[in-house]
Amino acid sequence: MSKVPGGKNLGKLYKPGRVRRRREWRGFKDTFYDYTRWLKIMGILAKFIIKPRNIKAFFRYRWMCNYLAAPMMLDRHTQGLRGEYLRIAHTEFDLVMEDIALLLDNVFKADKRIGNDEKLNKKVVLCDENEMTVFMMGFPTLKGLSRETPSVYVGVLLNQFAACHYLDVVQEYGLPGDVCPMPAAEAGVSIEDDFPILGACAIQCNTTCDGSLMGNGVISKRLELEDGVPCFQLAAPLRHREDDVQEYAAQEMRNAIKFIEDHTGAKWDWDYYFECAHRVNESTKARQEWLDMNKTEYPQVFGSNLALYTETNYMAICGKVKAFADADKKITELARKAYDKKKRIVKEYRHRAIVWGVQSHYYMDFLIWLQNCWGIIPLTDMLSMVSTRILSEDDKEKALYDMAWLNENMIMRNRTHGGYKVLLDELWQFCEEFNADMVILWEHMACKALDGMHGQFEEKAREKGIKLIWVGHDLFDPRIVSRQGVRDQVNQYMRLVLNEEPIDPTLEILPDEQSW
Ligand code: SF4
Repeated sequence: MSKVPGGKNLGKLYKPGRVRRRREWRGFKDTFYDYTRWLKIMGILAKFIIKPRNIKAFFRYRWMCNYLAAPMMLDRHTQGLRGEYLRIAHTEFDLVMEDIALLLDNVFKADKRIGNDEKLNKKVVLCDENEMTVFMMGFPTLKGLSRETPSVYVGVLLNQFAACHYLDVVQEYGLPGDVCPMPAAEAGVSIEDDFPILGACAIQCNTTCDGSLMGNGVISKRLELEDGVPCFQLAAPLRHREDDVQEYAAQEMRNAIKFIEDHTGAKWDWDYYFECAHRVNESTKARQEWLDMNKTEYPQVFGSNLALYTETNYMAICGKVKAFADADKKITELARKAYDKKKRIVKEYRHRAIVWGVQSHYYMDFLIWLQNCWGIIPLTDMLSMVSTRILSEDDKEKALYDMAWLNENMIMRNRTHGGYKVLLDELWQFCEEFNADMVILWEHMACKALDGMHGQFEEKAREKGIKLIWVGHDLFDPRIVSRQGVRDQVNQYMRLVLNEEPIDPTLEILPDEQSW
C-alpha cells in the first residue's frame, strides 16, 4: 500500500469472510483524512441508533441489519483513491449516508408499528423508488419518503445477499424466477409484511418495466386494502422521446399533484418548485462540466464517483436538499483542481470505456475494480446519462412539461424504454464523444428490454471496431452470478482476446464470496 494513485497490491487486503484483513494505507495525509471520514460515518450511525425507536426498528425489520455494513461499503468505494478523488468520493458518499439516515429516522418516526407519530404521518407521501420525485418539488411542508429505497435498494449495496431472502419469499408465493430481482424483492418485502406502515397517500409509477408493474401491483394492494393508504399510479409514456405523448405526460403530473393535494390538504407552492428547479439546473450544469472533462485525456469525476451520486441527486433529491447543490460545487472545485494539475486516478490508463446496461447491484464497486485491476477507465455509465435539459425557473406551464420530462427520463427506464435510438444509437454517439475504445456491457439476464438487443450491440461494435465486453449478472442475486463470476468475464476477455496482463494482479481473483 502506498501514496501511489490506485494503490499497490490491493488484493492483499482481502481475506475469506465478511471483513477485510486491515484498512488501506494511503500515505499519512490521505490515511488520516480517510480515518476522519470513517469516524464521521460511525458518528452518523451512533446518532441514528441512540434513539430507542430506531433500536426497536432494528429488531422489527430483518433488512435493518444490513446497515451494520455501512462503513465497509465506503471502504469498497474508495479503494485505491488518493487526493482529490478520495475527497470527491467522501463528499458524495458521506452525504448520501446522511440522507439515508435521515430518511430512515423519518420513516420509523411515522411508522405505525414504531414511532406512530400521527402528525408526521399526515404529511408523508410514499414515493416509489423508481420515480423521479418531481411531484414533491412544490410541497415544502410535506415529506416524500420511500420504503423500498432503504429496505431493498440500499440494502443490496451494503450487503450483497440482502435481497436473497425476499426473492425466496416471493418465489414461494408463485412468482417465476426470471422476473427482475428488483421489483421481485420489493414484492417479497411486502408479502412478508416487512415494510413500515406509514403515509397519507402513495405515488407509484409504471417505470420501469413489466416486472416493476407486477411488484407495484402487489405492494399497492396491501397499501390500499390493509394499510388504508390510497395509491396513485403515475403513468409515463413508453415512447418518451415522441412529441405527441408530452401533453399526456404533463397531464399525469397535474393529476398526481391534485391527488396529493386532495389527500394531504397541502397546496402546491410554485415559489418552492422554482427554487428546487434552480438547484436541479445547477446540478445538471455541474454534471455536464464533469462529463466534458471526461471527454479529455484527464477525466476527473467518473466510475463509482459518478454513478451512485448522480442517481441519488436526481431521483431522490430533485433539488429539494440544498446540501446536494453545495456538494456539487465542492466536487466541481476538486475536479477542476485535479484537472489543472493533469492528475490521474491510477498510474496507467489503458482503455477508455463507456459502461452500458443496468449494473449489478451487489457489485457496484466493480467500476473501481476495473480501473485498479486493468487500467480500464469507466468514463461514464448508462444510468448517469440522464437529463441534460435546463428547467424553466419562472414559467408554470412549461414547468409541468419539465416535470413530465424528468419523470419520463427516470434513470434506467430512459434508455431501457423509448426505442433503439436511446439504447443503441446514443451509445455509439457517446463512444465517439468520449473517444472510448471499449464498451463494458452489463447484461442483466432478467431485463428483457436490454437482452433483446444483444445481437445488434455486437454487430455495431464489430463494425465500429469497439472492444465489447459482456458482463452477465442477475442484478440483486449474487447466487446466480457471483462477484468473481462478474470479474472473470472481464479477466478472460483481457487475457484471451487482448493478451494483456493486469496492472494489479492481486485483484484478479478475490476471496470476497461472503464479504459485505
Ligand atoms: S433492470 Fe430492467 S427489468 Fe429490472 S426494473 Fe430495470 S428495466 Fe425493469
